[in-house]
Amino acid sequence: MSVVVVGSANVDLVVDVPRTPGAGETVLGGDLRRSPGGKGANQAVAAALAGGADTTFVGALGRDEAAELLLDSLRDAGVRVDLVQLVSAPTGTALITVAPSGENAIVVAPGANSRLDLGTAQTARIALADVVLAQLEIPLDAVRAAASARNPGALMVLNAAPTRELPDDLWHTLDLLVVNEHEAADLAGTPEALLERVPAAVVTLGAEGCLVARRGSEPVRIPGIQVDAVDTTGAGDTFCGVLAASLARGLDLAESARLACVAAALSVTRRGAQAVVPTVGEVAAARGKAR
Ligand code: AMP
Repeated sequence: MSVVVVGSANVDLVVDVPRTPGAGETVLGGDLRRSPGGKGANQAVAAALAGGADTTFVGALGRDEAAELLLDSLRDAGVRVDLVQLVSAPTGTALITVAPSGENAIVVAPGANSRLDLGTAQTARIALADVVLAQLEIPLDAVRAAASARNPGALMVLNAAPTRELPDDLWHTLDLLVVNEHEAADLAGTPEALLERVPAAVVTLGAEGCLVARRGSEPVRIPGIQVDAVDTTGAGDTFCGVLAASLARGLDLAESARLACVAAALSVTRRGAQAVVPTVGEVAAARGKAR
């Protein structure tokens, strides 16, 4: 049972702000925090901590100190990093503000992420995976290469974030799309319209949980878990990582989405993106309470 996450790794520079600044505005914030992040690395950490699936991260980092921070975090979570590429560009950086409501605003300088170029070692590992999970903070060619390298029996999952126009040939390679409400609206308008392009889609709905839609069956609504949100950074990533690991373990899509919802809800009660991924035990305990 294995997952390969093909995606970005960024150092997150995070500041708490009294409110998200508007255009042309300067806002005084709190102390700067520096932590490992990036959708790909966050999702790989979540998949590994979810337990039960051997997890590899495929991504590109610079030859700099920031890369060490990211590699340490991935290794600590039990993610395999032997196929990470070190390239001649700075490690990706994300600038994040967090408002008191927990709402965040993010700008990413992709750096090394935009140099990711899968080679034979990477595609060979992907061919062994049960679930391949990618996002859109890396070149589309890397996503395409991952999709074509996968075993026909494996699931190709795309978290289409941040959204961008996807070519038809890429849509055809996807087994499952995971998006939030805004991304779903950008890509297709409605969950039903998404299903014209992919056989299955999960639309996350923030505090409201998520919607699981499959071609030919009624959509399943999975309610959110009520928590005090402190920082929603990385909630979607925790969701995707736990979803992928659960699918790799052989759970069905609705059950996997239920576990992902619980894990993501726990993650918003803590600050940061990667350090907040709940362990298997915490998810099980919270799930018991939710019932
Ligand atoms: P989003 O990307 O905001 O749709 O969030 C992804 C997932 O994180 C959701 O499907 C929920 O499971 C969880 N989540 C996000 N925000 C909250 C919140 N305020 N309360 C509980 N769960 C949340």
